[in-house]
Amino acid sequence: MPDFETDILIIGAGPAGAGAALFLAKMGISSFIVDRSTFPRDKVCGDALSGKVVEVLNKLDKGWAAELNQNEKMMDSWGVTFVAPNGKSLRVPFSTKKEKKTAPGFISKRIDFDYWLIEKVKSQKQITLFEATEIRNYSRTNLGIIATAKDGKTFSAKMVIAADGAYSSFTKDIAGLKTEPQHNCFGLRSYFKNVRGLDEENFIELHFLKEMLPGYFWIFPLPGGYANVGVGMRADKMNNKKINLKKAFESVLQSNPAIRERFAGAEQMGEVKLHGLPLGSKKRKLSGDNYMLCGDAALLIDPFTGEGIGNAMMSGMYAASQAVLCLQHNNFTAAFIHNYDRELYKRLWPELQLSYRMQQLVNFPSLFNIVVNKANTNKMLRETISCMFEDIDMRARLKSPSFYFKLLFQ
Ligand SMILES: Cc1cc2nc3c(=O)[nH]c(=O)nc-3n(C[C@H](O)[C@H](O)[C@H](O)COP(=O)(O)OP(=O)(O)OC[C@H]3O[C@@H](n4cnc5c(N)ncnc54)[C@H](O)[C@@H]3O)c2cc1C
Repeated sequence: MPDFETDILIIGAGPAGAGAALFLAKMGISSFIVDRSTFPRDKVCGDALSGKVVEVLNKLDKGWAAELNQNEKMMDSWGVTFVAPNGKSLRVPFSTKKEKKTAPGFISKRIDFDYWLIEKVKSQKQITLFEATEIRNYSRTNLGIIATAKDGKTFSAKMVIAADGAYSSFTKDIAGLKTEPQHNCFGLRSYFKNVRGLDEENFIELHFLKEMLPGYFWIFPLPGGYANVGVGMRADKMNNKKINLKKAFESVLQSNPAIRERFAGAEQMGEVKLHGLPLGSKKRKLSGDNYMLCGDAALLIDPFTGEGIGNAMMSGMYAASQAVLCLQHNNFTAAFIHNYDRELYKRLWPELQLSYRMQQLVNFPSLFNIVVNKANTNKMLRETISCMFEDIDMRARLKSPSFYFKLLFQ
C-alpha cells in the first residue's frame, strides 16, 4: 500500500508546479505537491519576471500583480537596454502605453519570488505541500504512477505533473526526452552590490559583447542596491569554441573597458552559480499515459531571451485545465492527454519559433549593429521594437527579410 494516494501529484514547487497547483485549486481540485527543498530556497536565474508572469498571475487573482507592485522585495521594471556588439545602446520600453500604473515586468531574487508563490500555495486548502521530499523513483501500476521519495515515502497518483526543473529525472527516465546541445543553453549568475550606472527606470540590460558572441552578458538591477549579473550561451557553441563560461564571465568583468569601469567599486556577494536552460526551440512530446511535463521539465525556455518563468507558469495553467478534463472523463491515456501538447504549443509555439529566428540574428553582429544604430535615430523603428514586447504580430515582422531590406535602404 502506498503511504499517500491522490488523483494529482505535482513534482516540483517552482513557478511551473506551484502555478499548476494554484490553477487546480482555483477550479476546486485538490492536489499534492512535493519539492526536495524547503522554502525559501535559491534558484539560479536572472530574476527577471516578464509581462507573461504578470498575465498568468492576473488569471489566478487580479490582486496579485498589484501585491507584487507593493512588495519591497520586487522591483518594477519598465524596459530593456540592448547593447550592440559595436557598443551602441538602445533603450526599449516594455510598453508604449505610458499611463500603465502597474509595471509591465518585475525583477526579484528567485528566493523571494518563489517564496511569495509558495505562501500562496500554502494558503489554499485544496493543496497539500510536502517540502524536503525528493522523488527518487517512479513505477507504474494499473491505476497510474507511484513516486517513491528518498526517505521511502510512496505517493500513488492517477496523474503526475512533472515540474522538477531543467534536470528533471522524470523527463529523462519516464518521458524519454534527451537534452540536445543545440537546443540547450548554460547560464551563470552572481549577485553584486554597488554596480555603477544602473538605469533609473530599472531597465534590464542585455549586452551583446564582441568577445561573448553568440552568448550575452546581462546586468539586471534588484532591490536593495543589488544587481544580478550573468552570462548565457548555447551549449553547442560553447563546446565548439571550447569556452569556459566562468572564465569568460570573469574576463568580461576585468577586461571589457565599458563593463570594468561600472564594476570598479562593486562588491561581489556570494559565489558564481551555473545552471542549464533547456530551450523550447524544438517541439517535443510533452505528455503520455498518466503524465504531463511542465516548465523547464518540458524544455520551454525562450531561445532568444532565456525567459522561462512565464512559460513555466503558463504550462502549469494549461496542465491544470487538462488535468480537470482527465478527471471529468476519467481518462488518463496518452491519446486523451495529448490535447495538453496541442493547446500549449498553440499558445507558445509561434513565439518560441520567432525567438529561435531572433537567436540567429546574434550570428550576424553587423546586422545587429545596424538595427541598433538606425533605431537610435528613427523614432518609428524604436516604437516598433517597443511594440514587439507587447504584441506577437509585431515581433513577427522581425522574421521577414523585407523588414531588414527596408531598414537598410530607407
Ligand atoms: C542563469 C539563468 C538565468 C535565467 N534568467 C531568467 C530570467 O531572468 N527570467 C526568466 O523568466 N527565466 C530565467 N531563467 C529560466 C528560469 O529560471 C526557469 O525557466 C524557471 O525557473 C522554470 O521554472 P520551473 O518551475 O519549471 O523549474 P524550477 O524553478 O527549477 O523548479 C523546479 C523545482 O523542482 C524541485 N525538484 C527538482 N527535482 C526534484 C525531485 N526529484 N523531487 C522533488 N522536487 C524536485 C526543485 O527543488 C525546484 O524547486 C534563467 C535560468 C538560468 C539558469
